[in-house]
Parts: sequence; structure tokens; C-alpha cells
Amino acid sequence: MVGKLHLGRYFTRMNEITRIEAGENRPPRQRKPDWIRVKAPVSKGFAETRKLMRELNLNTVCEEAACPNIGECWTKKHATVMILGDVCTRACAFCNVKTGMPRPVDPLEPEHVAVAAAKMELEHIVITSVDRDDLADGGAGQFVKVIEALRRNTPDTTIEILTPDFRNKADAAIEAIVEARPDVYNHNLETVPRLYPTIRPGARYYASIRLLEQVKKLDPSIFTKSGVMLGLGEERLEVHQVMDDMRSADIDFLTMGQYLQPTPKHAKVEDFVTPQAFDAYAAIARAKGFLLVASSPLTRSSYHAGDDFQKMRAAREAKLAGKA
Ligand code: SF4
Repeated sequence: MVGKLHLGRYFTRMNEITRIEAGENRPPRQRKPDWIRVKAPVSKGFAETRKLMRELNLNTVCEEAACPNIGECWTKKHATVMILGDVCTRACAFCNVKTGMPRPVDPLEPEHVAVAAAKMELEHIVITSVDRDDLADGGAGQFVKVIEALRRNTPDTTIEILTPDFRNKADAAIEAIVEARPDVYNHNLETVPRLYPTIRPGARYYASIRLLEQVKKLDPSIFTKSGVMLGLGEERLEVHQVMDDMRSADIDFLTMGQYLQPTPKHAKVEDFVTPQAFDAYAAIARAKGFLLVASSPLTRSSYHAGDDFQKMRAAREAKLAGKA
């Protein structure tokens, strides 16, 4: 009798678990406003980009981060290659990339990235990576090898790198990348300092600012770029303060986009910032002296990166001509 009762409870509990896994009883996910909707990726260009990435065994942040712009970008053969594997040593609350112990570094990766750039006839390429706290140099050496392979194979392609923070690594890691001379050095601050303990717990806000400041000091000709996600619960004046901190590090280009929750396990969207509010932030940022600002709900740090690079270069030339 007792055994039967236990079995009954067991099956009731198993049914509950099945329902939860099937999505019943879950709080409904926040409905996205109309300005966030994007088209499903179905084009020929999209299929070709995906095939090439698979053939060359390359990961992209477009897929790993479930980027909403993938349909548009891959149709135009713009993809952001993610080097150093697809497993990250950090566990940021906003990011969809897997966390764990990464595999060894792929020695063929630099050549594969260069082959992809050549086949896609890229004028501009964005390279990012997972965090590799397990490597002595944080993976800086692989960034250098990728830049060198691109310069050898596609010398006309301009190169933008979006790196981790290289926290607790020697300055030599960053110096080596700067010496390889990417055209743009990007490192995202992601959010305001108050939210770091919950959103970016493995990072330190001022260490990230210092990284970008160091790049600019080492080689002022390299454009520096950084971005924040909005909608995580930040206050307007906190965002203004981040802009001031970026300007004090002489960062050239600011990107701002709406945070989207990749899965129910990730940090919640606190609010959907309106396109008008993004425009207002952009106006403030321009007044603070950034060379270029990209600010809209769907802005991501690599969105339209090639066109924005041209704009940034033109803005610098115009500024220098004005000073002459
Ligand atoms: S915005 Fe960047 S990450 Fe998103 S699909 Fe485009 S290139 Fe990929």
C-alpha cells in the first residue's frame, strides 16, 4: 500500500517535470516589440555562408550568440568569425556561448580564417573569440596569427578584432596584438559598472577601460571601439557616465544595442528601449566627442562593421583636415 502511494507520487512528479520541460507552467517570455522583429534567414547567400563556415570548421558569433541580424548579415556574406573554439571559460549572464573547459587551440585556424576571407572576397573582416583564461596569453597569440594570415592572403581586407579582456594576463599579450596592427581594436564594456557583478561577473569594468586606453596609447593609429547593451536595468545617467569613461580612454567608436535574452536561463530583459531613446543616446554620445556612434535596437558590435569602418576613417580624415 505504502509502495503504491510512493509510486503514485513519483508518477505525478514525473508528469510535472515533463510538463515543465515541454514549456508548460513557465512564465511567458516577454513579447518583443515590433521594432525588434527580424526576417527568417532563408536566402541563397545565407546558405552559402553557412556552408563555407562548416567546410572550414569555423565558428561564428552570429550563430553562437543567436544574433537577430544573421539573416541580413549572412545574405551579404558578412560573418563574425569566432576563433579559439566554441567553449568559453567565463559564464556571463547575457551570453549564449557554452561555458566549460575548451579544447586545444586549432593550429589550422588562422589559415582557415584567411581562406574564408578570400572566398567571401571580404573588404572588412571581424574576428572575435571566446575567453580563454586557461591559456597563458589568453589566446592573444592566436589573434596575432590570424591577423598575419589575413595580411599574407588578403592584404586589402581591413581587419577588426573584438577581443576578451585578457584579465590577469601580462601586458605583453595586448602589446603583441597591437604590434600585429589590426585596423580596429574592439572590446565591449557590455553594461554599466553597477551591473558587472550579476551580468559580467568574471570581468572588471575599469580593467576593460584600461585595456582600450592601453591600445590607444601603444598605437594611436588603431581605431578603438566599444559597445554596451541596453535594457538590462541600467539608468540613463549611468549610460552617460560610461560614455564619459570611454571618452577619457579616447575610444573612437561607440555601439549601443538592445539586450535580448537568448534563453530563459539568461539575464532577463528589464526593458525594451525605444528607437527614439536610442537616437537620444546617440545625440548625447556624439556631443561627447566620439568619432562615430551606432545606436539602434538591432545594433551589434559587428553589425555593418565594414561600412562603419569607412565612415570612421572618413570622420578621422575630416577631423585632421579641420585641424590642419
Ligand atoms: S551583427 Fe555581427 S554577430 Fe550579428 S549576424 Fe551580423 S556579423 Fe554576425
